[in-house]
Amino acid sequence: MTNYRVAVIPGDGIGPEVVKEAVHVLELLEKLDPSFQMEFAAFDWNSEYFLVNGKMMPEDALDTLKNYDAILFGAIGDKRVPDDVTVWELIMPIRKRFNQYINLRPVKLLKGVPGRYQGETIDFAIVRENAEGEYSNSGGRLYPGTEQEMAIQNTVITRTGTKKVARFAFDYAKKHGKSTVTSATKSNAIVHSMKLWDEAVKEVGKEFPAVQLQSYYIDALAAYFVMRPEELDVVVASNLFGDILSDLGAAIVGGLGLSPSANLNPEGEFPSMFEPVHGSAPDIAGKGIANPIAQIWSAALMLEHLGRKDLADVILAAIERVLVQKQVRTPDLGGSATTMDMGSAIREAIQLLLLVKEGQS
Ligand code: ATP
Repeated sequence: MTNYRVAVIPGDGIGPEVVKEAVHVLELLEKLDPSFQMEFAAFDWNSEYFLVNGKMMPEDALDTLKNYDAILFGAIGDKRVPDDVTVWELIMPIRKRFNQYINLRPVKLLKGVPGRYQGETIDFAIVRENAEGEYSNSGGRLYPGTEQEMAIQNTVITRTGTKKVARFAFDYAKKHGKSTVTSATKSNAIVHSMKLWDEAVKEVGKEFPAVQLQSYYIDALAAYFVMRPEELDVVVASNLFGDILSDLGAAIVGGLGLSPSANLNPEGEFPSMFEPVHGSAPDIAGKGIANPIAQIWSAALMLEHLGRKDLADVILAAIERVLVQKQVRTPDLGGSATTMDMGSAIREAIQLLLLVKEGQS
């Protein structure tokens, strides 16, 4: 029997509400499938922890997390704590220390999701560079508070970093039977860093003759996302471009409540972290109406990363089944179901699907 050790960080706002449902799904699978076991350890590192302790997590937090196979993360953000504190003192240290240089965001339109793209086949992935790029804290401000005040924020694009993310994107395309990789660039205006990005992506593309590379300026690509999303296979983008495209991608397939993500250390030297694209949603926190699908799907990505794609597929099929049946829908999907209603409907569907699978074998 395989034993997976999972660190759980529910975070703020709706984070704990949706994480609870994801953990219930994992517990159910563990109960139904005797081939694996999961050991969960929950950590209360969030804004409340910061207000009490003056820091987002303990000094030895990263050493503690290092011992786990994966991290299931909810969401972080609270109006009592500045966003740059929650981001730079919790999420960024985890991503950086554990070399989670890939942020993978599937953009898949599930059956039964209402919206203007209903009935279309949209199924692509955004591979976002997660360790450098525009989100470096290199820079500074001069002459603060004066009319001469200036700010410089440096973008860090390296040949090695770009090649690593490009290689992941091409490899992902190859493994998933996809024929194109689309690179997001702006080398006509950002002539130093983005030109290096283009060169490095192109160089890696040569190693994958069966996958075609296409390069689009970010503004044109944003329009492409809206006009022809069904033509996209794998999109590779720098940190900022990937961040923006991810929310756009989420919007075309039903919104933030349906969008998962994975922060990956592909080499497996450190734990990878799985979290929904959405934030802590303070406007609906505490009401019990957040859609838990993004979080449950993130848990599915975690299972896939841990080598159990079969179980990840069952979760996704169960989510789709519930959406198609249209009986249980949270308010973001036009219904009145609660977070717990959605969680239990998905668990029921999992049970049913596994029974059918068992009957077939
Ligand atoms: P952050 O800065 O942490 O990203 P935010 O409020 O800008 O916070 P989100 O927390 O992602 O961004 O929320 C954006 C909008 O999407 C909010 O109106 C929120 O209620 C909605 N939303 C986010 N996640 C969900 C969810 N799981 N279910 C339903 N609605 C959601």
